[in-house]
Amino acid sequence: MRPVSYARATAPAEAVAAVAADPGGAYLAGGTTAVDLLRQNVLRHDRLVDIGDLPLAGIEETPAGGLRIGALTRMSDAAAHPLVRERFPLIAEALELGASPQLRAMATMGGNLLQRVRCAYYRDAVSPCNKREPGTGCSALGGINRGHAILGTSEHCIATHPSDLAVALTALDARVHTLRGAGERSFHIDDFLLPPGDTPHIENPLEHGELITAIEVPDTPTARTSRYLKIRDRASYEFALTAVAATLRLENGRISGVRLALGGVATTPWRARHAERLLLGAAAEPGVFDEAARAELAEARTTPMNAFKAELARRAVVRVLRTLAATPEGQA
Ligand SMILES: Cc1cc2nc3c(=O)[nH]c(=O)nc-3n(C[C@H](O)[C@H](O)[C@H](O)COP(=O)(O)OP(=O)(O)OC[C@H]3O[C@@H](n4cnc5c(N)ncnc54)[C@H](O)[C@@H]3O)c2cc1C
Ligand code: SF4
Repeated sequence: MRPVSYARATAPAEAVAAVAADPGGAYLAGGTTAVDLLRQNVLRHDRLVDIGDLPLAGIEETPAGGLRIGALTRMSDAAAHPLVRERFPLIAEALELGASPQLRAMATMGGNLLQRVRCAYYRDAVSPCNKREPGTGCSALGGINRGHAILGTSEHCIATHPSDLAVALTALDARVHTLRGAGERSFHIDDFLLPPGDTPHIENPLEHGELITAIEVPDTPTARTSRYLKIRDRASYEFALTAVAATLRLENGRISGVRLALGGVATTPWRARHAERLLLGAAAEPGVFDEAARAELAEARTTPMNAFKAELARRAVVRVLRTLAATPEGQA
């Protein structure tokens, strides 16, 4: 590990100025991603600005009925918050199904969105990897890629986005608020986590030194009937092979509202808009759910090792929708 200087910021603008002024600078929040990758020589920062003292933790209601979740809110605190549990149960489920209790007590909501991929070649500092060292190639394409993506891939990178939280936020049209030297900005979650394309090393639109200050989840009445289903190789402390975040609302047996996002199968949290279009207005029946899931996954590009994910995701979508359709709170 290289020598790293360390400082604690006391105000957001001070933190932004400190990191923006130093090309080797980066933020340290809970440290659960950053410290491992610094030790492994994957991240090569030489200055860490600890943002743990900034007043960016806490959850408040917005005037429009949504929630504003501070970037430094711990995952465990967000999952336990009564307003999150009541209005957005899928967020609480996604958080509680991630990492371990110890990690969730350290890890922050902002850091969760910016965690790095779990591709073993990315984390092995000597393997070719376009995301870690642009232009070196993608070792996963011809290597071990059982856990890799089948949607949103490119010839340059097929790593899945690892965050469970981001999948729930994608189903809810959340926004990410930031601060940079030139002032505040806000991004729709779809524009915040970028597919690899030709530039897999660019994972988000943030400028160097831009700080996430909050996540805003708009009022979504259908989200009170929502689920996050995560399927993985072991029952805890493991990333998703497939995950589904869904909200469903029925009126007289027909679907009057639906949100669907997939995790574990795509290079970004995958909003299943094709499936949503097919479902809206249709009868809430297993055959309809199945048809919608198949349509969404029709564009999957698989390898011999990860082809099973398409079938797993199809079954997961059907299972979640069947569960929600049988929930009395979702019926009008
Ligand atoms: C063993 C293990 C298992 C895990 N399992 C899961 C899982 O199943 N599901 C899941 O979703 N996650 C999982 N995680 C990931 C974990 O949730 C993240 O490591 C954590 O959320 C990152 O938050 P942090 O505060 O520790 O970020 P840090 O490690 O401090 O930072 C992560 C990155 O974000 C940047 N950053 C942090 N905060 C900000 C900010 N406010 N503005 C701008 N940049 C910022 C940092 O500079 C750094 O690049 C796992 C992690 C581990 C180690
Ligand atoms: S899948 Fe992406 S992260 Fe993994 S080796 Fe290829 S380029 Fe690197």
